[in-house]
Amino acid sequence: MKDIKTLKGIGEKTAKRLQKLGIFYAEDLLKHYPIRYSQYPKVGEIDFDKNEQKVCILGRIQGRVNTVNAGKYRISSLTITDNKNIIMAKWYNSPYIPSGLNPYEKYVFIGTQTKKKNITYLEHPLVYNYTEYKNIMDTLKPIYSLTEGISNSFFEKNIKLLFDSYIQDEEDFLPEEIKRKFELIDINKAKKDIHTARTMEEVLAARKRLVFDEFFLFIYNTRLIKKERSGVKSDYIIDFRKEYFKEYSELLPFELTASQKQVMAELAQDLSNNFIMNRLIQGDVGSGKTVIAVFALFIVVRSGYQGAMMAPTEVLARQHYNTVLKLFDGMDNKPEIALLTGSMTAKEHRRIYERILRHEVDIVIGTHAIIQEKVEFKKLALVITDEQHRFGVRQRQLLAGKGNSPHILVMSATPIPRTLAVILYGELDISIVNTKPANRLAIKNCVITKTDRNKAYAHIKKEIEKGHQAYIICAMVESNENTDLENVIDYSEKIKEYFGCEISVDFLHGKMQQSKKDDIMTRFIEKKIDILVSTTVIEVGIDVPNATVIMIEDAQRFGLASLHQLRGRVGRGAEQSYCIFVSTSTSKDAKKRLDIVGNSNDGFFIASEDLKLRGPGEIFGMAQSGELAFELADIYSDSSVMSMAANAVDIVDGINLSKKERALLEEKLSSYIRYNYDKMSL
Ligand code: ADP
Ligand code: MG
Repeated sequence: MKDIKTLKGIGEKTAKRLQKLGIFYAEDLLKHYPIRYSQYPKVGEIDFDKNEQKVCILGRIQGRVNTVNAGKYRISSLTITDNKNIIMAKWYNSPYIPSGLNPYEKYVFIGTQTKKKNITYLEHPLVYNYTEYKNIMDTLKPIYSLTEGISNSFFEKNIKLLFDSYIQDEEDFLPEEIKRKFELIDINKAKKDIHTARTMEEVLAARKRLVFDEFFLFIYNTRLIKKERSGVKSDYIIDFRKEYFKEYSELLPFELTASQKQVMAELAQDLSNNFIMNRLIQGDVGSGKTVIAVFALFIVVRSGYQGAMMAPTEVLARQHYNTVLKLFDGMDNKPEIALLTGSMTAKEHRRIYERILRHEVDIVIGTHAIIQEKVEFKKLALVITDEQHRFGVRQRQLLAGKGNSPHILVMSATPIPRTLAVILYGELDISIVNTKPANRLAIKNCVITKTDRNKAYAHIKKEIEKGHQAYIICAMVESNENTDLENVIDYSEKIKEYFGCEISVDFLHGKMQQSKKDDIMTRFIEKKIDILVSTTVIEVGIDVPNATVIMIEDAQRFGLASLHQLRGRVGRGAEQSYCIFVSTSTSKDAKKRLDIVGNSNDGFFIASEDLKLRGPGEIFGMAQSGELAFELADIYSDSSVMSMAANAVDIVDGINLSKKERALLEEKLSSYIRYNYDKMSL
């Protein structure tokens, strides 16, 4: 890996900016894949009927670029003719003004045609020399996601430069036979074409290969784990008794649903046979997965062993800790429960480590602090990970490595069809919770525009007067000159003023210190905060049943899967809950997308509709499900490539490979596994 600053023209400042996009090394640039492609259009004549459209005019210039200062504006203009008509080009405060144009040469002008006060002109056109433009006309231009101070042409230029001067071809790890069978192109061509292809066919072929590789390695790794873990005898003899169901149910303040009971029976079955359990519980947000998992802890503790539960965030770990404490409070032989998170002091850590090692603690609940090397268990029989997409497959394995092949239970809210789940969670048996608790009313949704905000606030106020609480979600943490999106800091000030001192407002975002975040969440849970303004940090798992309204600002900016998870923060109790999506876009597509979540509360349905709506320009992971995050692959829209990759994993061990092919493949797999370990320890 080569530091990005070793590239020509990239200094400290640019490097800092690139970090915001997750780019640290030169190689990372290549993985900054285009989010879509646009085509360099065909040239045409001036056409005054094309107002408000993007046009591409072939013409000459008349005179020179003329720049005047008018107040805060610096306006540059230029006259263009195609020998029949003339049109003006205008740039306002633009860093880009063409210079050195020759009146005897032909140029291509690409910009948006606008008519104001009866004058038609081109706004901010890009200017190309016609001879050069002919080479790129009809070809593709990759469009990248950007950050302040980094332009699209920065990526175009530097990626080309990398390929010309630094990146060397690698030997392809995929055996020829696999490439032939699944019609895959060479890896080097794919890596390059995804950025520089001239046609859409080339892009698609490149993308297919890269997506295939991501799935192939992922699935291969999963199968290795499965081989390691299936049919392994368990060291923990669990003497399961039927009464456990009854005992446990009596601890709960509600009736279990049929589907919860069914999954609990599957767990009991797994735990009481002689082999280690490897199970995934999948269920939509709010379906009540936690109490099922805690039942497994209950069984294990009753049998005299230890159990651990790992959550992806500190807030969520604390919430689980409190839930479990409360639940087991009514037990005769109360188990010892400990919380273990990264923000505790070294001294606290040491003390807990000792207690865990001596088996003075029966249940440990925490963040990935649990998988630190120093944590040693005496009799760890069960490991649970919640909201598993936030952890890597191997991370789960590390926790499992703490004990002597403990039972493994994973909980996930990613709504994927069973056929895909079987491939992606290949090493796990799957249980599905497909009903919600009976006391739930369907969440009422509405999609509104900014002008209806006051009605929404009035509604929130009414809910608070009934003793309920509300969330308001903003896309940004703080104000930023590049965007009009709402931000948590200014927004909470604004509504504090609006609602007055009767209603208490506070805010939460990912950049806050952990102790501050915990404090805010605790106060929200204790009803000391009525309205919590937050970023998507509350997306996962937070369970405050008294919150009955969630209002999502700039809702069109979020993926549908995210919106659905966010909405899952309400509707968690018996009261009627509401979700208000505020759209600040006038685009028809945005409306269509929001209407999907607005009209359905079903995670599976939303995921499949989302897929149908994605146009060809959007197939490049823009709308990534965010969970089970692959770099380029999308588990929904690339499901056919996923099946191919699964098929390839099935056959690759059986085919005849040369010694060299076998070695290349094995080397790639082990570096993939190493890479994933490294990523985890960050
Ligand atoms: P998720 O599946 O999203 O993790 P949780 O396990 O957090 O959902 O459960 C959501 C809420 O529903 C919790 O407050 C939980 O106590 C409650 N709950 C779980 N099961 C039932 C049930 N059978 N009846 C009523 N409420 C339930
Ligand atoms: Mg949960």
